[in-house]
Parts: sequence; C-alpha cells; structure tokens
Amino acid sequence: MDKTTHSFQAEVKQLLHLVTHSLYSNKEIFLRELISNASDACDKLRFEALDNSALYEDAPNLEVRVLVDKAARTLTIRDNGIGMSAQEAIDHLGTIAKSGTKEFMGRLSGDQQKDAQLIGQFGVGFYSGYIVADRITVESRRAGLKAEEGVRWSSEGTGDFEVEAITKPTRGTDIILHLREGEDEFLTAWKLRGIINKYSDHISLPILMQKEEWDAEKSEYVTQDAWDTVNQAAALWTRSKSDITEEQYHDFYKQISHDSEPPLAYTHNRVEGRSEYTQLLFVPKNAPYDLWNRDRKGGLKLYVKRVFIMDDAEALLPSYLRFVKGVIDSADLPLNVSREILQESRDVKAIREGCTKRVLSMLEELANNEDQAKRDQYAAFWKEFGAVLKEGVGEDFTNKERLAKLLRFASTHADENVSLADYVGRMKEGQDAIYVITADSLAAAKNSPQLELFKKKGIEVLLLTDRVDEWVLSHLYDFDGRPMQNVTKGAIDLGKLQDEEEKKKAEEAAESLKPLLERLKTALGERAKDVRVTTRLVDSPACLVTEEGDMSAHLARLLKQAGQ
Ligand code: ADP
Ligand code: MG
Repeated sequence: MDKTTHSFQAEVKQLLHLVTHSLYSNKEIFLRELISNASDACDKLRFEALDNSALYEDAPNLEVRVLVDKAARTLTIRDNGIGMSAQEAIDHLGTIAKSGTKEFMGRLSGDQQKDAQLIGQFGVGFYSGYIVADRITVESRRAGLKAEEGVRWSSEGTGDFEVEAITKPTRGTDIILHLREGEDEFLTAWKLRGIINKYSDHISLPILMQKEEWDAEKSEYVTQDAWDTVNQAAALWTRSKSDITEEQYHDFYKQISHDSEPPLAYTHNRVEGRSEYTQLLFVPKNAPYDLWNRDRKGGLKLYVKRVFIMDDAEALLPSYLRFVKGVIDSADLPLNVSREILQESRDVKAIREGCTKRVLSMLEELANNEDQAKRDQYAAFWKEFGAVLKEGVGEDFTNKERLAKLLRFASTHADENVSLADYVGRMKEGQDAIYVITADSLAAAKNSPQLELFKKKGIEVLLLTDRVDEWVLSHLYDFDGRPMQNVTKGAIDLGKLQDEEEKKKAEEAAESLKPLLERLKTALGERAKDVRVTTRLVDSPACLVTEEGDMSAHLARLLKQAGQ
C-alpha cells in the first residue's frame, strides 16, 4: 500500500483542538489513556485467542513497555496485544464511532480539572497524546496478519493523517509520541515511573521500563538493556481484602471509572454457593454525563477466571443500578460466553441477584447509619442517582420493599430528604393514607390549590416532581400497610381527620348548590365528567381533579409533551 493521506472526521478535528488546548494543566493523563488502550488491546487478544491460540504467535506473555529515546525526543508505548490492520487504524484513529461526542463538546466546562475527567469518561483517550506530542506515529500489526501487513499511521493532529504499509515482525502496537518543545520531562524515567504508579498500578499486565544507571563520566543517567516491572500487575480483586488499603481501592476505582473523585462506597467479596464469583462494586459520588443515554455503556466488567470477557456486561445488574462500577470475576461461566448466553445463564442470574442485594445493602448502610455524616452522604447520593434508583420500584418486584425504604422526597414539611418512614412517623392521629401530589416543579406542587385543606390541617403531603414519579406511584400502591393517595385524584376522604362540622356544611352546600352544579355540568358538557362541591379548597374557588383510577392531570400533560 502506498502512502495515502486521509482527513480526520470533522468531530475529531474539533476534539483534537479542544483536547490540546483545554487539558494542558492535566497533561500527564495521556500516559494513563495510552496504557489503558494497550491493556485493552491485550485483553482483546487474550479473548480472541481463546478460540485461536495461534494468535499468540511466539509471544504468549502479554505486556506493555514504555520506552524513551532521548536523542530522538520520543516516548513510545508498546504493547503486544491485538494490534490494528490498516483499515482498523484508519477507522479507529480517524473517526469517533461513538455517539455522544457532540454532547461531550457541549459539556466541556472550561474547568480543566472537570474536562479532563470527562475526556476519560468519553474514551477520547488516544487523542490525549497530542497534549504533549506534536506528532504521533502509530506502528501496528494485527495478530494473525503477516509481517508485511503492518501499518504506519502518522499525524500532527491537525487536519490530516497519513497511512502506509510497513513490515512489522512483532504483533501489536507502538504508539510513538514526538514530544512538543518543552515537554522533555516525559523523557525522564523517574517521572514516568511516578505517573505509572499513580494511574496505572492496577493494570493487570506488567508495565515494563528499561533500567537506568548513573554514568559518572557523562554525568547523566544512561539507559540499560535490562527491563523491570513498574506496576504491581496483580488484579486487585484477586487479592485478599485484608491486604488491600482503602487508598488502593480508591485508585482502582479511579482507574476503571476515569473518575477523579474517590467512590462513595464499595464492597469486595468472594461469593460461594450457587455460583462462585468475586465481586468488587463501587458506588460513585457523581453521576456521569450520560446517565440517561440509552446506549450508554454499563459499568461492570466481566472476567472469567481472571480472563477479561467484556465491558458493559448489562446482564449482571438491573438497569436501575446502572451507575454502579466494578468487576465481576466468575469461576463458573464458560470462557467463550457471549452476550446471548449471559442473558440465559443461571449463573448470571445468581450473580445479578447477589450483586443487586449487595448494592442495596451498601446504600442502606449509608441511609440508616447512626452517623449523620453517612446519612448526608446518602442524601448526596440521592441527589445524583435517586431518579435512577426509583426505576427499580417498578422493575424489581423482589426488592420493591427495600427500594421503597430508600426513596426520598420533598414534602410540605421539609424541602428534601423525606423518607416514607419519616412521613409515616409524622402522620396525624387518625390519618391512614400517605398523601402525595405530582407536579412539574416544586413551586407548582407547593402552590397547588389541591393542598389548601392539607395545609390548613397541618397534614404533610409529599411533593413529587420527577418525571418518573408518576410511574413510580403506579407501582407503589402502599407503604407499611398505608395506601398512597394522590391528592389530585378522586374525592379526598380525610376520614377521621375531617371534622364533622365541615362535612355537614359541605353536604348542605351540595344540596343547596345543586341547581348551580347542574348548570355548570350542562355548560361544560363533554369536557367534564362531573362537577362537585368540595371541602378540599380553602381559598381558591375551584380546582380540577381526575377520577380515581384515571391518569392524573400531570401524567396527561407529560404524555402530551411526549407527543402521545
Ligand atoms: P477507547 O479506548 O475508549 O475506545 P481511544 O481513543 O482511547 O478510545 O481509542 C480509540 C480506538 O483506537 C480503540 O477503541 C482501539 O480500537 C484503537 N486503539 C487505540 N490504541 C490501541 C492499541 N494500543 N492497540 C489496538 N488498538 C488501539
Ligand atoms: Mg482508550
């Protein structure tokens, strides 16, 4: 293949510009990104080689090497993973296949710290090399192809890239960074070792660097022929809990999630019984930008006996726990397991149930903690992920009760964080229902005329303003034996809370107002099912209610907005 020139996809150009200009203060993350790509490439090879061990050629030990050439001012990240064919290099390094890139650009805040975090979440990793390099050359050969079928991809990271065929005897990929002027610190071995230790310690492959020795004559460090391993290279979850520090858990979390903050909570267990597996699960502090994207990747990685099988193994957790990150390492699943098999597998079912219970326990531990600080953490969690967790009330029948206890609402008594148990604890003598109102916003809920009577009587009403709340209500009929009653629906019977005097007055009024009601009914015709005298209003002359069992007005509005 002759040398050919290609143009980057428009989005890539934009992205490259942003990456190089906005991430400068966090530049060392490029090494984490490139090592993580190298590690992914080795995982992919290991997986493909399950069916075809010839792919290992004569190099079965997967590894990453970081090489420095001071004279040429290059830094190379070399792996012997799956490699790329010429077409793959063109496709994978010249375009962004993932949807959401536009969204990413829109989300860049200008705050470099935050933006660097986003970069990781989006997996625009490769381009981060251009923060420190003014040219990147990639030399690669896909496992299984002939030595002559290697590819050299090269670009200054502006408009175009060049591709040509090369002969590359060794399988895998070299990412060669031609460092920008002034970036010589990335030629220093101890600096690089420090970054690797910080960001890539838990990569389960060895990351090797050449040793250096002080040369007194030249009065500088000289690179030796010997290599040593810089990282720990043992998959964290396979180690015993007692040997792992909190900091190591946090670092591991940051590495798999690309989050810059430590997790809110984590749990690490070897599970035996119906299915044998290790679980290491994290609840993040902050919601990712794409929590509501339908085609967003899930956060669990599946391994089978330490062999990486897949990212985004959505069968392992219900979707309402999609914010959880972590690793499952199964001892029972077959190594050639596919997504289809996962959906059917009884082992997976057991893992899914086990993980769900664990995550709920972690959350309960925070929510019910005696320590106020922990309960505050739960409140913070709820702010970020509550709307997602709520979906579980309708989706997970087995854990509905547990989920109901974890719900938090605003109410007429407190602006946030009211649990159903708090509500029940504050119920008035003689009150037997849990009253809720659904509305578009907190202000609309609070000012609704439907609440007048409740306010007058000091009865607490939960204010439900999330889009999913209507749906949640349709699955949560009661709590602790008390029915949930939407105050915008049907006739409100306050039962023993109603005073007899008022009731009688209303009945009399209904009697004397009959002719008026009849006239209103005729005037409104089809548009109203009924016109009634009510005790629920205090100051307002009239309000709309829907029939018990009908869609609430709020839901009707939502559906109308959605074009239904
Ligand atoms: P991501 O890792 O999230 O896919 P990157 O921008 O980091 O995004 O990498 C883009 C793509 O380039 C990868 O998905 C992969 O197909 C390819 N790639 C990058 N580095 C390597 C490598 N060392 N070996 C093989 N393929 C690679
Ligand atoms: Mg990557």
